[in-house]
Amino acid sequence: MATYDYLIVGCGLYGATFARLASDAGLSCLVIDKRPHFGGNCHTENRHGINVHTYGAHIFHTSNKAVWDFVHRFADFNNYINSPKALSNGRLYSLPFNMNTFYELWQVHTPEQARARIEEQRFQGDPANLEEQALSLVGSDIYTTLIRDYTKKQWGRHPRELPAFIIKRLPLRFTFNNNYFNDRYQGIPIGGYTAMFERMLAGIEVRLNTDYFENRNFFDNLARKVVYTGCIDEFFHHSYGQLEYRSLDFEHDIHEHENHQGNAVVNYCDDSAPYTRTIEHKHFENSQSDVTVVTREYPQDCTSGRIPYYPVNSEQNQKTYSLYKERASSIPTHIFGGRLSEYKYMDMHVVIESAMNRFRSERKQAATDLLPQ
Ligand code: FAD
Ligand code: UDP
Repeated sequence: MATYDYLIVGCGLYGATFARLASDAGLSCLVIDKRPHFGGNCHTENRHGINVHTYGAHIFHTSNKAVWDFVHRFADFNNYINSPKALSNGRLYSLPFNMNTFYELWQVHTPEQARARIEEQRFQGDPANLEEQALSLVGSDIYTTLIRDYTKKQWGRHPRELPAFIIKRLPLRFTFNNNYFNDRYQGIPIGGYTAMFERMLAGIEVRLNTDYFENRNFFDNLARKVVYTGCIDEFFHHSYGQLEYRSLDFEHDIHEHENHQGNAVVNYCDDSAPYTRTIEHKHFENSQSDVTVVTREYPQDCTSGRIPYYPVNSEQNQKTYSLYKERASSIPTHIFGGRLSEYKYMDMHVVIESAMNRFRSERKQAATDLLPQ
């Protein structure tokens, strides 16, 4: 007899959401994670009174009220609005692409003037890749100043070799509005994500430093069902080949002064610096401290031993993923969810939504199984 209803592999946002919902429904869960902490990539750690986003800036945003209500069970959120600055060729620009950016770039004052500048340099036609999509949306000046080199650094390949959807994540607007997101709700959990996860996981058994693959049979036999949130190709011993992920190195510096860059996020959009972003964490929560922690983010190939952060959704990888997905759907005892298991570039709110939907369909299935045939 299984000891738990669910064994959950991975204590990131997908695993923790699923565990919370299952536990609220009276089901027993064991959550394991190979890392020494919970929270996955959302993890924060307090240094000098500042909540440092260990794996890069995490800004919560959503238009889904159910998701917003869900996270509010575990944290209060502040009114932080993400407004990164972009550095290119020694000049500072506003992001996302909006009237402030157009003024900084071309000294145009009105939406009509800005539209006309973009129109004269736009790619006309059906965009087939990220480069064409960017040229079609914003034209060549913005593409070469703010997109081309950043994207090459981030993904380790030319924008022509990347899918168009990646750049569609960024808003383009003809108003003076530097909000990086279009969502209705946005903020940072006051006290950091780690404190939020602590409340989310209250009463749920979590074992850290525990790798599922070190004793797969043992773990599978512990529970009625397994929720797996690790890399899907690893689960199947890479039998259809390795899926590509992009990794990152983070270098954290402590500066002995109060304010280093005046903004939480600065993007480095030309190729003079090998990193893509610097994050000054104290600005997320307006933390008061005599020192400041600044992190540089260096994109890397995901070679052995590195943490996979971003799925590289090229055509070839998508084809390979669909083979794994089909195989996964034939295993009724296992649920595959989250950024690495669904091999999808998902923000936090999308991951929560995905876990909620999956849990709901699980409950429906369980109710159907109990009906007389
Ligand atoms: P993860 O957080 O990766 O959790 C998976 C967990 O599974 C990990 O803890 C891992 O250790 C564990 N695991 C894997 N294999 C095993 C195994 N074999 N045994 C045991 N445990 C295992 N989203 C936003 O909404 N806003 C942002 O501003 C934002 N910024 C981001 C910045 C960066 C640099 C990155 C990389 C992502 C960002 N995201 C952001 C996305 C966000 O991080 C993800 O949506 C979310 O963390 C995904 O949760 P997850 O549970 O799917 O994956
Ligand atoms: N991007 C860019 N310049 C920037 C910011 C983003 O070219 O200053 C492109 C880049 O290709 C990136 C994509 O837009 O991968 C999505 O950006 P986002 O900020 O959403 O990336 P994330 O925070 O998920 O790393």
